[in-house]
Amino acid sequence: MATIGFIGLGNMGAPMAANLVKAGHRVTGFDLVPGAVEALTAKGGDAAASAAEAAAAGDVVITMLPAGPQVRSVYLDEGGILASARRGALLIDCSTIDVETARAVAAAAKGVGFDMLDAPVSGGVSGAATASLTFMVGGEAEIFARAQPVLAAMGRTIVHAGAAGNGQAAKICNNMILGVSMIAVCEAFSLAERLGLEAQTLFDISSKSSGQCWALTSYCPVPGPVPASPANRDYAPGFTAAMMLKDLRLAQQAAGATATATPLGAAAANLYQLFVDGGAGGLDFSGIYRLIGKSDDKT
Ligand code: NAD
Repeated sequence: MATIGFIGLGNMGAPMAANLVKAGHRVTGFDLVPGAVEALTAKGGDAAASAAEAAAAGDVVITMLPAGPQVRSVYLDEGGILASARRGALLIDCSTIDVETARAVAAAAKGVGFDMLDAPVSGGVSGAATASLTFMVGGEAEIFARAQPVLAAMGRTIVHAGAAGNGQAAKICNNMILGVSMIAVCEAFSLAERLGLEAQTLFDISSKSSGQCWALTSYCPVPGPVPASPANRDYAPGFTAAMMLKDLRLAQQAAGATATATPLGAAAANLYQLFVDGGAGGLDFSGIYRLIGKSDDKT
């Protein structure tokens, strides 16, 4: 069993760290929010008073932080992970961040002798709670192999996506598909309504036809056809619109950096920006149906 330092015990990090404890690993956690550290100790983990202390406590150091700036700072700052981790420690960043930062931090880690992976996840808070996350992992194959037993305690599907940064690349490409397809499904249900076609009827047909996709069949944005979807509970998240916007912006940043045309990805980012600016950032991302499908001005 491994000794693990875990930094960032938020909505995702808390259940991930708890699953590591459950699997028999010794986990020492740190978060800026003291209550998050106390919650880990209540589950059998140990408390660290700083990121440096958590980093020094493990042969493996895992981070689950909000975005690129926090990852840069927690790894690279004076007193950060690279300055504090044990010699030979394996570093795994599970946050969703920009590819450029992921590659820069991995290169800095390598420069001072650490193995590092980017390993963003899909599966949300429920996947984190049930240890059924999908990990998309960037880094050298031997480092990937080294991380398997630890990642397996938190996830069910663990995929090696290639070199450093490729885990993040896979994550933002996947979520661009999801954002665009969710908007397409919303538009189709909106048009169907105006044409007098029942939502359930469109669902029954499209879920068995070429319009089939995850946004339709697992996460239908109109109430009714998929009872478990957030549409049936007033778009309580789930995966918030603010998080979807973050990922779509990361995709646009990467598209800009590589001169890649992603016109639908850009449109999706703009629509989610409007939705979030309207105060809906905390709603589930499928709630964008309220923007696209609003019927008050329909004739
Ligand atoms: P969160 O905001 O709930 O948790 C982040 C935690 O990091 C917070 O507890 C915060 O206090 C802590 N933190 C921030 N800066 C810190 C620092 N310098 N030192 C120590 N702790 C610090 O976010 P989350 O929902 O847990 O998401 C974490 C990451 O996972 C994000 O990158 C997100 O995009 C990604 N993600 C989230 C979901 C989801 O459904 N929530 C799904 C997939 C991926």
